Amino acid sequence: MKKIFVKNTYDIKLSDKPSNQVIDQTKITKVALIPDNIPNTKPRLLKKVGEKVQIGTPVYVDKKNDALCFLSPGSGTISDIQYGKRRKIEKVIINLDKEETFVEFEKVSNEAELNNISRDSLVDLLVKGGLWSLFVEYPFGLPPKKETVAPAIYLSLDEDEPHSVNSEVILDGSISDLKFGIKILEKLTNEVNVSIRQDNPIKDQLSSVVTHEVYGDYPANKPGTVLFYDKKDMTKNKSWGIYAQDLLRIVQLFKSGRYPIERVVTIAGPRVRQSSHYKIREGSAVSEIVQLKDSEKEVRYIFGGVLTGRSSGDDGFIGYKEYSINVLNDDYQPELVPFVKLGFDKHTFGKTYFSWLLNKPDWQMNTSLNGGERSCINCSICPNVCPMDILPQFLMKSVLANDVEESMSQGLLDCVECGLCDYVCPSKIELTSIVQEKKLDLYKEIS
Ligand code: SF4
Repeated sequence: MKKIFVKNTYDIKLSDKPSNQVIDQTKITKVALIPDNIPNTKPRLLKKVGEKVQIGTPVYVDKKNDALCFLSPGSGTISDIQYGKRRKIEKVIINLDKEETFVEFEKVSNEAELNNISRDSLVDLLVKGGLWSLFVEYPFGLPPKKETVAPAIYLSLDEDEPHSVNSEVILDGSISDLKFGIKILEKLTNEVNVSIRQDNPIKDQLSSVVTHEVYGDYPANKPGTVLFYDKKDMTKNKSWGIYAQDLLRIVQLFKSGRYPIERVVTIAGPRVRQSSHYKIREGSAVSEIVQLKDSEKEVRYIFGGVLTGRSSGDDGFIGYKEYSINVLNDDYQPELVPFVKLGFDKHTFGKTYFSWLLNKPDWQMNTSLNGGERSCINCSICPNVCPMDILPQFLMKSVLANDVEESMSQGLLDCVECGLCDYVCPSKIELTSIVQEKKLDLYKEIS
């Protein structure tokens, strides 16, 4: 087993950590599909308002990559399609029937059947079953084209962004499914790398499949980070990445022949009545699955990771590839003369506030930035949290100057979009979105 030591990682100690108890929250009346959940998707609708769908009916496909086909996570009637600016589709809402029905797909339920199926048929099954978009292809971090073959696939068993799902919970009782999933990946590529957090208590049970042991906090366990530390040359640059829970969804599709709609997510944060793991359905509305402590106050929901997620109000729905909902106070009132206060109640990375003296075990967060965006002052705090050997402030400047060559040499394509440089920036600059946008522009240019 290869050891990977990731430097400059960071564990933000958040309060209201989700417990390992799994609470069933699958009884709901509506679901929604959110196209924005997968970047660079331009949806072409296949259904209209009023039409009936089953679980697994295609609802839209990406206009440029028809392997990205998104299926209905519910059986019922399309009740609303909501559009944003420039007629961009934001939500497709489906009201569920009492008795739900499924589209049936071909089953591949054991290793013998898997050995008899060709790679092309396997890819077709993943595309028709709506799960091709679970893979990301590096360096752009977008779903691959179905014609491509990855030089290697990096499967990460752990998510380490604060308040992410715990792999002990999702793999409980599913280790044989995970091993079957690894066999599926082996049909897709010649090299499958499986990484696990070095202190994961279930490491021994998986010793026959794990190839990499990872040392470090967030974002050490991102598949892109493991790839960066593992690769010896450029041949692996276009490898794919996937997380364990995504792979278990693929196994469910293959074994049951039905589109998998249930998953375990975390719902956590200072406003949640019980921060825990929850079994929910894809596309659930927060109004139906999140119990708030005090429903009078303003609240913000972050879907899919406290640092990298998508935010929404109380009309939000969890997306196709989101496994956590963080619920934060959004009723922050501006402070009077904040600069004369010592900030004992504010978390700090760069010792801006005196709170660093307290050594508190965890911190309760809200949505306040504690100040507005200012110019970069070259404080050089951000390189201390970048695990990819990037100097984020110089990368940002070359991106803003539209100097592609310099941006590439500053590590544009190595960035795993972890969001840590945004979090620690005292000037509140959103470096990650600047880098993300440039990467997307570059992808569009070359593809
Ligand atoms: S540049 Fe920022 S977002 Fe990218 S890997 Fe480094 S810290 Fe993370």
